[in-house]
Amino acid sequence: MRAVCWHGANDVRVDTVPDPKILNPRDAIVKVTAAAICGSDLHIYDGYIPTMQPGDIIGHEFMGEVVEIGSEVRKLQRGDRVVVSSIIGCGQCSYCNLQQWSLCDNSNPGGWLQEQVTGYSTAGIFGYSHAFGGYAGAHAEYIRVPFADHGAIKVPQGIPDEKLLFLSDAFPTGYMGAEMCDIQPGDTVAVWGAGAVGLFAMHSAYMLGAERVIAIDRFPERLRMARELVKAEVINYEEVDAGEALKEMTGGRGPDSCIDAVGLEAHGMGVEGFYDKAKQAVRMETDRPNVLRQMMVACRKGGTLSIMGVYSGFVDKMPFGAAFNKALTFKMGQMHGQRYIPMLLEHVLNGGIDPSAVLTHTLPLEEAKRGFEMFKNKQDNCMRVMFKP
Ligand SMILES: [Zn+2]
Ligand SMILES: [Zn+2]
Repeated sequence: MRAVCWHGANDVRVDTVPDPKILNPRDAIVKVTAAAICGSDLHIYDGYIPTMQPGDIIGHEFMGEVVEIGSEVRKLQRGDRVVVSSIIGCGQCSYCNLQQWSLCDNSNPGGWLQEQVTGYSTAGIFGYSHAFGGYAGAHAEYIRVPFADHGAIKVPQGIPDEKLLFLSDAFPTGYMGAEMCDIQPGDTVAVWGAGAVGLFAMHSAYMLGAERVIAIDRFPERLRMARELVKAEVINYEEVDAGEALKEMTGGRGPDSCIDAVGLEAHGMGVEGFYDKAKQAVRMETDRPNVLRQMMVACRKGGTLSIMGVYSGFVDKMPFGAAFNKALTFKMGQMHGQRYIPMLLEHVLNGGIDPSAVLTHTLPLEEAKRGFEMFKNKQDNCMRVMFKP
């Protein structure tokens, strides 16, 4: 089959690779009908995710058709149309039983690589390095889906792929970001990053009862989408100081919660931005925590920081005293897809949102390199690229 393989920083190629096979009785093979490039794929593309190996197939946001099932798969049949959670969970361990699927104890055979840094390994993720299981990714014609009864969620026929695809990753990620804010009536939620995950987080914040949602970004087109698609108020941080603007907009109080939908490659400003870029370039710091620093200062006292943008390692120069003295609550983590997808699917089917609004470009798999370049450089206002293998 054809698949998008990582060969080093800024080097993806479409290679011919062996077709996936059933390896475990609980596996299914899915023919991928649509897969997207996620913001966190960019961290792989840019070479910031350790334990990638040349030839690894990337991609984790996808849907398709079940073409083969293992002998112990109970809920799926050949021909079923499914959206698959980007996070892999066994459905049997204590964490999966608590609906904390991204903390699964059994789905990450590469966990030992992670434990050296994290103490305890977390769940496997499709196409996301050997520290996350070394699973082949979804930018391919076919993919093996382990624990398929749990991760592959059946969806109805007759609805275009692009309306359902983002249920695999971006929508549940954004939803979890909002849910972690424990939103109370009257709350103001500030969201850094108006990409797909940020927009879904903003929509979800309103779903969960926020009174005001404020989007912070620097790309006018993204801010326009935040304004028009999800009815957020907007701040362009290249035009005004985001912290000052938030203070002013909230009557001097600060937002009740702050969501980071940016992650480790934040575009820092001024001296601080330069400092992080320089340290990251020489590997003195793995992640650029610019958004985290801003949130710690901008959030109201006693507020919540909800972190959905991906961080991979170490951060530096955190105003931890501010967070401590303001009694902030930090919540974060990879999303628990299996817990959220069925409910969000209903929301989409009931017309609560049309997720295809975040899709800007559709390409054949063979043009993956162009897709990654467009997405990285936000050419042509690129927000999400969908491959149709
Ligand atoms: Zn993702
Ligand atoms: Zn588990």
